[in-house]
Amino acid sequence: MCFFGVSYYWDSCGSGKTFPTLDPRTGEVIAHVAEGHSEDVDRAVSAARKAFDHGPWPKMTAYERQRILLRVADLIEKHNDELAALETWDNGKPYEQAAKIEVPMLVRLIRYYAGWADKIHGLTVPADGPYHVQTLHEPIGVAGQIIPWNFPLLMFAWKVGPALACGNTIVLKTAEQTPLSALYAAKLFHEAGLPAGVLNVVSGFGPTAGAALASHMEVDKLAFTGSTDTGKVVLELAAKSNLKPVTLELGGKSPFIVCEDADVDQAVELAHFALFFNQGQCCCAGSRTFVHENVYEEFVQKAKARALRRVVGDPFKGGIEQGPQIDSDQFEKILRYIRSGVESGATLETGGDKLGNKGFYIQPTVFSNVKDGMLIAKDEIFGPVQSILKFKDLGEVVQRANNTRYGLAAGVFTKNMDTANTLTRALRVGTVWINCFDTFDAAIPFGGYKMSGQGREKGEYSLKNYLQVKAVVNPLKNPAW
Ligand code: ADP
Repeated sequence: MCFFGVSYYWDSCGSGKTFPTLDPRTGEVIAHVAEGHSEDVDRAVSAARKAFDHGPWPKMTAYERQRILLRVADLIEKHNDELAALETWDNGKPYEQAAKIEVPMLVRLIRYYAGWADKIHGLTVPADGPYHVQTLHEPIGVAGQIIPWNFPLLMFAWKVGPALACGNTIVLKTAEQTPLSALYAAKLFHEAGLPAGVLNVVSGFGPTAGAALASHMEVDKLAFTGSTDTGKVVLELAAKSNLKPVTLELGGKSPFIVCEDADVDQAVELAHFALFFNQGQCCCAGSRTFVHENVYEEFVQKAKARALRRVVGDPFKGGIEQGPQIDSDQFEKILRYIRSGVESGATLETGGDKLGNKGFYIQPTVFSNVKDGMLIAKDEIFGPVQSILKFKDLGEVVQRANNTRYGLAAGVFTKNMDTANTLTRALRVGTVWINCFDTFDAAIPFGGYKMSGQGREKGEYSLKNYLQVKAVVNPLKNPAW
């Protein structure tokens, strides 16, 4: 279903076409969803344009915007369980993870950005000469946002939170694999009193709805999360149309470095979490586990044992750590990477195959003896496949960790503060987690170096993605006074 102009209506798409969204546990259809195309994107953009140019949202007091966002957060909190259930049904992630971690994080993010709404302001600038100079920080306009399927609600919140706090209007395209939860969340924004046309959600596919949004002449800014290859495509579409500024949050091949002095049991547990969390479907997954040679053998045996203990099954059941992969494409792709790992000579310690005959489940898989040149050490697998590599010294591991086109995140596991500081400064990545991993917080900025992206989301840094700066210069008639 497409959703135009929050206070207006749910609508079918112009073409009347729909697409099925599937339950990854079984591959069966959950619902048929209206399939947005460029004409639907046009309608959504014109609703957002009208709401920005004439509507109350950008002109409301910041305090009024803040109160609406706080009401949104309260409603999301109230509907925690329904949202979590939709997330699990459509995406396959464990329900406990969705209900206890992700939806509460969504609430926290919206409250965080509600807090920013009345704290956005410009500067007084000391210029040469008799001028009174100030800057106004104004909303940028209609924001186009394209999100992926691995964290449908969190990606929705990372995008809409800062955009709304700054007074923009939005057209957001969900991923075709997971259209449901954002539609439900958008309904709650409507119930909280968000004015008509401020938030528009379009369901549909990338090359049609997504491309139409990226190349739309009336869209003032584009924010994209997804693969590096698609990031290049949308950047080009944005440049070729109206040069709208683009923020990109793309792929990764993050190193997780276990130093010689590490507590091996803790390092094994954290490295396991860093890779296997969310079925391995995290852009920042610690997917190259570098282990110092002195603790390597022990680490490999314990990592294998931990993977064997991982509880895989129906994500709606309690105690499940791992559900199915998102869809058959990803499932097949992961199995291809596993085959390539075996063929290239890595040691398959455990796993290596699908699990069961229904749905998209994959065995938790661990490879040791992985070499830098192997595909499993270079490409983003986006699945439950841990690759363990051996290193001798810190200089070597820094060089190898940085030898990738990506630069999203890194984990460093050590008891030595000097080692932690040295590695932190040497790694060319947007986030370094020291003795922790995947610690997300509304206030902590996230984004990539190199081909992992452009710009930062979350935190104060995200606001500038959604603001224009206007310089105001006013001559002083009587400067001596
Ligand atoms: P993945 O391969 O993990 O599905 P993608 O980068 O293809 O990652 O998808 C992320 C988002 O980008 C989804 O919402 C998808 O529909 C959208 N998308 C895919 N192709 C395009 C495109 N050509 N133009 C705009 N958006 C796209």
